[in-house]
Amino acid sequence: MRMNTALAILRGLRLTLSHFFKKPVTVFYPERKREVSPRFRGLLALSLDEEGFEKCVGCGLCARVCPSNAIEVDAAENVDGERYSKGERYAREYVIDIGRCIFCGYCVDACPTEALSMTPRYEMADYERDSFFFTKSRLLENGDRLTEREGRLA
Ligand code: SF4
Ligand code: SF4
Repeated sequence: MRMNTALAILRGLRLTLSHFFKKPVTVFYPERKREVSPRFRGLLALSLDEEGFEKCVGCGLCARVCPSNAIEVDAAENVDGERYSKGERYAREYVIDIGRCIFCGYCVDACPTEALSMTPRYEMADYERDSFFFTKSRLLENGDRLTEREGRLA
């Protein structure tokens, strides 16, 4: 038993020493920000198509699959002269309560028009509860930022 303890201590010391001369990996956040993995699941975004129409057609599938009930969609019909999406319907109201979101990505997978995506943005802290309600315009803004950042349509 004593032998095992001594071996465990030696193993621990070896591990400590192996890191002793390595360069520290501390990142001075928020002055410096780390790049996240391309598959990182950050803040959600809605996007427009190449012609500027909303990709979202208000089908509500994202809301149905969301395990946190974080999404609310209120759909309406597109009419001649007032068309928001290329489908028959569009999302008149679209809100995601990011405070409830667990970033599982189910909504993105379920979306038939690829309107929803997850951005690399991870800074969402706020003092006001209402700031976590991301309306359609805020989600479209996030999509714009993603497009700018990646130089492609989100
Ligand atoms: S990422 Fe998951 S929890 Fe968040 S809104 Fe989408 S389905 Fe809901
Ligand atoms: S984001 Fe996608 S799944 Fe959700 S309502 Fe719009 S089209 Fe349907």
